Amino acid sequence: MSTPDRVSELRTQIDGINTQLLELLNKRASLASEIGKIQASLGSQIYDPVREGEMLTSLEMVNKGPFSNETIKTLFKEIFKATLALEEKQASSKMLVNRKPDQKDTAIVLQDGTQIGGGTFQVIAGACAIESYDQMDAVGELLNEFGIKIMRGMAWKPRTSPYEFQGLGEPGLKIARQVADKYGMQITCEIMDQSQIPMMSDYVDIFWVGARNMQNSFLLRALGKIPQPIILKRGFGNNIKEWLSSAEYIISGGNTNVIFMERGIRTFETETRNTLDISAVPVLKTQSHLPVIVDISHSAGRRDIAVPLARVAKASGADGMMVEVHPNPPVAMSDAKQQLYFDQFRAVMKALKNLHIDTEPETV
Ligand code: PEP
Ligand code: MN
Repeated sequence: MSTPDRVSELRTQIDGINTQLLELLNKRASLASEIGKIQASLGSQIYDPVREGEMLTSLEMVNKGPFSNETIKTLFKEIFKATLALEEKQASSKMLVNRKPDQKDTAIVLQDGTQIGGGTFQVIAGACAIESYDQMDAVGELLNEFGIKIMRGMAWKPRTSPYEFQGLGEPGLKIARQVADKYGMQITCEIMDQSQIPMMSDYVDIFWVGARNMQNSFLLRALGKIPQPIILKRGFGNNIKEWLSSAEYIISGGNTNVIFMERGIRTFETETRNTLDISAVPVLKTQSHLPVIVDISHSAGRRDIAVPLARVAKASGADGMMVEVHPNPPVAMSDAKQQLYFDQFRAVMKALKNLHIDTEPETV
C-alpha cells in the first residue's frame, strides 16, 4: 500500500473512533444525568469529589498508554467538568425562580391593581422609619403629588447598634396604615421574624425582607405560605446565586409574588455606603422572570447623587426604584445622611419623567 493510501486508511479508522467516542460520551452523559436526577430528588449534592477521585484512580490502574496517566487524568477531568455542568443546568432549570425558555416577565398585581413588573417602572418611596403621624402624613402628601402608589415605612429598624432607635413597632404600623389609606396607597414594611406575620397582616400590603434576613430560611419559608407579595432585598455579602436561592425558598412554599431589590454590596469603596451592583439587574432579568427594583438610598448612603442613580436604575431595565424621603432629613431618627429632602425627591421624579428609554430589545 502506498504511503498516502495508508494515511487515508488510518484517517478513516480515526473518523470511526471519533464517532464511537461521541456516542460513548453522550451515553455517559445520559447516565450521569439520570444519576443527577435521582440525587436531586433525594436532595443530595450533585458534585461528588470522592467518586471523581475513585474513577481517576481506576483509570490510572488500567491505562496501558501511549497516553501518560497525567494526560488521561486531564482528559477525564474535562469530561467530568462537562458532565457536572450538564447536571447543574438540569437542576437549575427546575428552580421556579429561573426563567424558562420563552417565559415572559412576571407582573405582580397588588390589591389595588398597581402592577410591579411587566413593563411598568414603579417608584416605591417613603420614610426609612416611621417616626410620627405628622412625618408620615407629610411624606404621603408628597408622594401623592406624583401619584405614587407604594409607600414604605419601617416599624422595626435592624440597627447596627442596640442603643440606636429601633422603631415604633405596632403603633408605627397603625400610623402607616392610616396615612396609606388617606392617600390610597399600599404600604410595605420590613418583617423581622415569622411570629410577626399575623399581626403585620392587619396593616401591611407588601412584606419586606431586609438585607440582614435574606438567608433566614425559617422566615423565608413562612413567607412562602402567605398570599401577600414579598420584597426580597439582597444581602450585602451575598452573590446573585444565593439571592435566587432565597427567592426559591419563598416560591417553593407557594407564594410566587417575589420582588428582588438590589441594595448594593460591600466592597472596598468608602465614598458610598455600599456599591450599587447595577449589573445585577440585567443578570437577574436574564436568569429570572421576577421583577427587580433598585434601592438608590441604601446603596449610596448619600442623597447628593440620587438623580443620576435614579436615571441609572431606570436605564438598567429595572422594574422600579426605591428611595427614602423625609420632611427634615438631618434630624431623621435613622439614615439621616441618605433620606432625600422633598425638593430633591421632586428633582428625582422630574429626572425620571424626562428620561426616555428605548425598550426595543437589542439584537447583539
Ligand atoms: C431598609 O431598606 O430599610 C434597610 C434597612 O435596608 P437594608 O436591609 O438593605 O440594609
Ligand atoms: Mn433606611
